[in-house]
Amino acid sequence: MSHTAKSHLVLASSNRGKLAEFNDLFADSGFDVVTQGSLGVDDVEETGLTFVENALLKARNASRITGMPALGDDSGLCVTHLRGAPGLYSARYSGTHGDASANNAKLLRELEGLPTEQRGAFFICVLVLVQHADDPAPLIAEGRWHGHVLTEQRGAQGFGYDPLFLPDGQTSSAAELESSLKNRLSHRGKALVALHAQLAELRHD
Ligand code: IMP
Repeated sequence: MSHTAKSHLVLASSNRGKLAEFNDLFADSGFDVVTQGSLGVDDVEETGLTFVENALLKARNASRITGMPALGDDSGLCVTHLRGAPGLYSARYSGTHGDASANNAKLLRELEGLPTEQRGAFFICVLVLVQHADDPAPLIAEGRWHGHVLTEQRGAQGFGYDPLFLPDGQTSSAAELESSLKNRLSHRGKALVALHAQLAELRHD
């Protein structure tokens, strides 16, 4: 993949916060990132059984409809004691999509009474980049952030399960960390760095 002029890359998400992160990532990679929403592409149904399948479904759908290279992402929290739940259903664990306080309340109920050593969990983020909808060799990057689930919420920054997540090696919950530190340590930060490395390698092939 060598670029002389900037080409467009579709982000298979309409989240504007993510757009800013991904534009930074691709600033030196010859891509200008645009959201699928701005091109009239609707969300695809997430029928996969794994994060990587869902990220690929999203990327392929956006690429097929726009004819452009596309980036799909999927992320969530996996709790070992719950066999990986809430997992793919992290955003709608309580039944209502995006209701973080109900999701956190349900997670606390599910783990009630368990000691720290049985509260292990990790956040995961998978990024998939396809050059075109039938790309047989997509770039796949993953990041994991290990820690455990607290017994009560701490902190007001971040989003989702951040107030209940104590990262390994930290004394602050993910919702108490400075956002720049969270971005460096987090599953998403690690996946972005991994994808960046793969893109740099491609350009030297
Ligand atoms: P999505 O990848 O944007 O669909 O995120 C899925 C869900 O995973 C979010 O709605 C959150 O519940 C959870 N999640 C993903 N990343 C994070 C994070 O960095 N902090 C807290 N919750 C997260």
